[in-house]
Amino acid sequence: MSFLPSRRSVLAAGACLPFLRIAGAKAIPSSAYRVGAYTVTPLRDGLFPLQPSMIPAADNEAGRVLLTRAGLPPGGPSPEPVNAFLIRRDERFWLLDAGCGTVLGPGFDRVTTALRAEGVSPDQIGTVWLTHLHADHAGGLLTQDGRARFSDAEVVLQEREVAYWSDAGARARAPAAMTPFFDTAQAVLAAYAGRTRRVTGQAQLAPGISFLPLPGHTPGHAGLLIEDGSERLLIWGDIIHSRVLQMPHPDWTVIWDADPAEAVATRRHILDRAAVEGLDVAGMHLSSRGRIIRDGSSYRWEGREVTGADSPPR
Ligand SMILES: [Zn+2]
Repeated sequence: MSFLPSRRSVLAAGACLPFLRIAGAKAIPSSAYRVGAYTVTPLRDGLFPLQPSMIPAADNEAGRVLLTRAGLPPGGPSPEPVNAFLIRRDERFWLLDAGCGTVLGPGFDRVTTALRAEGVSPDQIGTVWLTHLHADHAGGLLTQDGRARFSDAEVVLQEREVAYWSDAGARARAPAAMTPFFDTAQAVLAAYAGRTRRVTGQAQLAPGISFLPLPGHTPGHAGLLIEDGSERLLIWGDIIHSRVLQMPHPDWTVIWDADPAEAVATRRHILDRAAVEGLDVAGMHLSSRGRIIRDGSSYRWEGREVTGADSPPR
C-alpha cells in the first residue's frame, strides 16, 4: 500500500490538485483541497483504536497478515481517523458531520479547535449536514452538558435516519451495546429540535452538492457528492472503517452495521462505481483522499495525500 499517487492519477486529477501556498495569495491550509469553487478541509477529531473484534470476519490469520503487511500490530488495535469536513465557498461555510465531541471519552473532540484553526467559529456554521447519527459523527454537535454546540446551525439529514433512531422498536431490537448510540442520536435530535431538516434520497443541499444514500451501515446513511464543473468528490461517510481490511474484503462488516447484508451490497456497489468513474473519494475513517482500483472481486486504494497532522502510520 502506498500513499504515492501514480502519474496517471495525478494527470487524471486535472485541476483538482492539493492546494499550494502561493506568494501573495490567501494562505490555504495544506490539508485543504479544492473541488471546483468549493474548498474541502478535513477536520481531524481524533484517532479511534479499531480492534480486530470490531470486524469479526477479519479476526483471523488472513486479517492478521493484512495488518502486518500494512505495518500495523497484527493483534490490533489499528488507529483509524475520525474526520469531519469543513466545506466552504466564498464566505459560506458548511460542516459535514461533527466528530465525537465528548460522548466517546477522551482523545476526541478536536473538531471545533480544528475549525477555529481554519478561521471559522462554530457560530459561523449555518448548516451541518450529517451522513448519519452515530456518536462519532453527531456527538460533536453537543456540548458536554448536552446542549447544541452550534448555536445558529440547521441540521440536515435523511428522513430514514431520523425515523430509525427515534423508533422505540428499533431500539428494543438492537443489541444492548447500541443503546448508548440511540441515547446520543436522540440527544442530538432533541438539542436541535425545531431546526432539523429531513430530506429524502439524492436531495440537493447546495449548488452541485447532493446527498447520495448509502444505506446499510444505518438506514439513512448517506454520502455527500460534490460536483462543480469537471471536478467531483465523494465523501462517503462510513463505507470503510479499515482500509487495510475492507478494501481487499468488502464483505467484512463492522459490528455497528444496522443491516450487514445491505452494508456489504452498498459497499460493493459504491466501490465499483468509484472505480469505474474514477471518483475522488474521502471518508470519515480514511486518512487521505484517494481513488479506488478494482482488483478482481476486491479493491485497492490509491491515496492522494495525507490529511491531518496525526494520521495513522501507514
Ligand atoms: Zn463512523
